[in-house]
Amino acid sequence: MRITDKLAARQTFSFEIFPPKGELPLETAYDIASQMVRDRPDWISVTYSAGGTGNSAHTVPIAAQLERDLGVTALAHLTCLGSTRADVDAYVASLASAGVENVLALRGDRAPGREAKDFEHASDLIAYLRSSGADLCVGAACYPEGHVESPTEEESFRSLYLKQEAGADYLVSQLFFDNEDFYRFREKCLRHRVRLPIVAGIMPFTSVKQIQRMAFTCGASIPAKVVKRLVLAGDDPADQARAGVEYACEQLADLAANGVDGLHVYSMNKPSVAHAAREALVACGYLGA
Ligand code: FAD
Repeated sequence: MRITDKLAARQTFSFEIFPPKGELPLETAYDIASQMVRDRPDWISVTYSAGGTGNSAHTVPIAAQLERDLGVTALAHLTCLGSTRADVDAYVASLASAGVENVLALRGDRAPGREAKDFEHASDLIAYLRSSGADLCVGAACYPEGHVESPTEEESFRSLYLKQEAGADYLVSQLFFDNEDFYRFREKCLRHRVRLPIVAGIMPFTSVKQIQRMAFTCGASIPAKVVKRLVLAGDDPADQARAGVEYACEQLADLAANGVDGLHVYSMNKPSVAHAAREALVACGYLGA
């Protein structure tokens, strides 16, 4: 089912998984996904070589497993930096034969040796997908605090507007730790004529190290209230991770109460995180038990 149809019907609740590395990746992914499905997400997204993992070949097979074997809607990510039109055509054909109709169209992070070929920006990929006539529901990324490379806020919104005009159907946000950033962003989108539904992406922090890395790779700022939670959690890694899940659940409940279009949990391949998110939303009455 198309994600736009789900967004039109209700506030959605979804998870992200990334293809595991190492041996038996499909079996591992299947195991993770089958546990997450018990929490009845509207969809599960599958990353594409995120963080330079180079595991893009597993995205479509995992998405196909989600659709065919687990009966849950899959959102297959696709990055275009370094890809040719022929590469994209092949990917689209593989989605069609796997029965996957949702794709998240991305540029991908810049990396040494990864030069643009036929696509410079995500909007070029979106326009190409549209012009190719592929029957796909196309999502795109957005950044409540601006993309790390955007020199100005104007630039950031201009590129979002370009994604919309190229044919994106909805947006999924980068992680953020202060919901006020998201609410301000939502308002500014309207002022910049970006009228697409926006799914809010939330990732629990797991440690001081991890949140520092996020701040640099995603440009997400770390509010004082998060620093305090981490200080209170102390040095024990388990306590830090627990504080992160608790904080993320509070963020999700607040976003639900503020009527966001959808809630997407960067669940880091941990079914326990996905489950905690669902429990938090059930507890405050935003999801049925
Ligand atoms: P773009 O929209 O192309 O934007 C990149 C930069 O270029 C921005 O600064 C933008 O302002 C600027 N820009 C855009 N268009 C123009 C233009 N026409 N002229 C001038 N400047 C322009 N990465 C992965 O590798 N795999 C994944 O699976 C993955 N999943 C993600 C999922 C989500 C929800 C998000 C938010 C990000 C994900 N990423 C993933 C990371 C993403 O690839 C990076 O954030 C990347 O740096 C930018 O991707 P984009 O699609 O937003 O690019």
